[in-house]
Amino acid sequence: MKAALILVGTELLNGGMLDTNSLYIAEELNKYGIEIEFKITVRDFMDEILKTIDYAKKNVDLVIMSGGLGPTIDDITKEAIGKYLNKPLIVEDNELAELKEKFKKANINFIKINVKEVEKPQGAVSFKNDVGMAPAIYIDGIAAFPGVPRELYNMFPKFISWYSKEKKLLKDGIYIKDILTFGMAESLLDESIREFFTEDGIYYEFLVKNYGILIRLQSTESNKNKVEKIVEKIYNKIGVYIFGEDEDRLEKKVVQMVTDLGMNISTAESCTGGMIASRLVDVPGVSSVLKEGVVTYSNEAKIKRLGVKKETLEKYGAVSEETVREMVLGLDSDIAIATTGIAGPDGGTQEKPVGLVYIGIRVKDKVYVERKIFNGSRNKVRERAMLQSLFSLIKILKKGESNE
Ligand code: ATP
Repeated sequence: MKAALILVGTELLNGGMLDTNSLYIAEELNKYGIEIEFKITVRDFMDEILKTIDYAKKNVDLVIMSGGLGPTIDDITKEAIGKYLNKPLIVEDNELAELKEKFKKANINFIKINVKEVEKPQGAVSFKNDVGMAPAIYIDGIAAFPGVPRELYNMFPKFISWYSKEKKLLKDGIYIKDILTFGMAESLLDESIREFFTEDGIYYEFLVKNYGILIRLQSTESNKNKVEKIVEKIYNKIGVYIFGEDEDRLEKKVVQMVTDLGMNISTAESCTGGMIASRLVDVPGVSSVLKEGVVTYSNEAKIKRLGVKKETLEKYGAVSEETVREMVLGLDSDIAIATTGIAGPDGGTQEKPVGLVYIGIRVKDKVYVERKIFNGSRNKVRERAMLQSLFSLIKILKKGESNE
């Protein structure tokens, strides 16, 4: 089955906004084996939208549109679909009542133009919007979603699960397993796991995320056991690079492991400037384990706040194994993470190049130091150092568990 995406919104074409909705939709369709033949971004102009719908309808089975479902004058997607299919726009009483109720709950005045949010071409099916106002709709091979990503994420799964049943796309439910890795290049991952995929109907792909590389294994429910056997083989071969599965994230994993150990954690950050603490704070429930996060950027702060010796800084420099070691020792918690590095773009030398970062990790009284050189812009170096710190801590804690 083939699909096309139509992203509606002048702001997507005038440099005002980056289209991320199509990335999400592509990943979701992929799970159902639906290929995207093309995507077109179009302005909020009726003739341009109509032309694009026509082209898409003539070439694919399913047209998915995003944007232009709101109440304002430039929101004309549903009108365009109605026009194209020659269907009048109607409002269903129950949908209007629900919309009015939402406005009431949100304490917003309902005005006449808001009715537009529940208008739809006659015969269209609606999908409930739990996080916004306008429902998504589907009619005659065309689905339309609001542009707001949060709303799309809420309704797309409902739509695709309904659509796949309707079209009997999956006789046998789909089975997906995501394995999350960090620190191994995509090509090496591929080389390491390729040999396990010899059977028809079990596929894998790599998705590069901002927290690592995800290996997605995909098959049907009836192959679940076979997929799990492959997962086991992957763990046996590259387990040290795996930090979790499915919805796991580095920071979630850290918080979970520290909680399970009944310990607490603190951070002292120089080049990462609070990024590690911030990531940890993203995790609900972190308050029971995160003691403190300090940004000790200057030498003075490292001395005063952490007790790093002046002589250490003078002799080895702020970016050194010795300094990071004293930084983690200066934190009063069971587990400590510290970073010090040269994020650039200036400040590098032959001996200490831009991208050099020392990561210190202390678990009780055992200190581990890693010296890493990261590539990329100042922010990339900082981000990579943050991710590496979290991943290294997971590795250390895992080792601790297996030594017990
Ligand atoms: P609303 O009810 O908020 O008006 P809508 O369906 O009319 O929703 P748009 O007005 O087209 O949606 O877009 C609303 C916002 O959603 C945009 O300002 C933009 O921030 C975001 N958005 C729209 N399209 C995309 C896209 N393709 N990728 C990411 N964000 C998008």
